[in-house]
Amino acid sequence: MAMLVAAVPGLPTAAAAAEAVYTVKAKDTLTSIARQHGVPVAVLAKRNGLNLKEVIYVGQRLKIPDTAAQSSQASPRLPTAVQQSITAAPVKPGRWKYIVIHHAAVDRGTAQALDRYHREQRHMENGLAYHFVIGNGNGMRDGEIAVGNRWRRQLDGGHLHSPAQNHEAIGICLIGNFDQTSPTKSQMQSLEALIRALMRRCHLSVTAVKTHQQINVVSTRCPGRHFPLRELLARLKKP
Ligand SMILES: [Zn+2]
Repeated sequence: MAMLVAAVPGLPTAAAAAEAVYTVKAKDTLTSIARQHGVPVAVLAKRNGLNLKEVIYVGQRLKIPDTAAQSSQASPRLPTAVQQSITAAPVKPGRWKYIVIHHAAVDRGTAQALDRYHREQRHMENGLAYHFVIGNGNGMRDGEIAVGNRWRRQLDGGHLHSPAQNHEAIGICLIGNFDQTSPTKSQMQSLEALIRALMRRCHLSVTAVKTHQQINVVSTRCPGRHFPLRELLARLKKP
């Protein structure tokens, strides 16, 4: 389906490649350049010997650090295609307040199948209720991230009970039933990388990361009792 880009978290090829250099254009700021490249602004500034308030000028050449190579396994890398679709989406300032984690509650599935289900059975005209789906090897590849139409077009989600919450919450669904099994290691790595990228893109902190159960106005078990929330939050709190 055209609306979906799928990519698996591969081994970073950039680790062996030379560090990228970016030439500053009009209207660029350190923050916008950092966001564009998925690099924390403090890391970008430090690599170039700048302080955060420093004015940059058109034509200035900045080294773009490879954060994945720097932080080793501490911070899994997001596939380039997914990072690009996060960067490219027209995110308005203050648009999103929460990043909400769900499970599909079934042990196999794809973003396409969920899209069809939400369109045909749930009568959602925008289809796939989540902004992102992460596969578990049954239907989608293990750890594969599908980017939904609602993210690309910055539409409200359809993943929470309350329309007001759907208006301010990005929805990520992991395929699997985590009342019965745990998410795979690849799924958790992809989830962490995806959340980190979204936190940067939307200027959110770890406190914005919630489970469906924590935020929904109606009681739900989603994303299941085996979802390792505490571990995930601990990892996200590390730089
Ligand atoms: Zn849910």
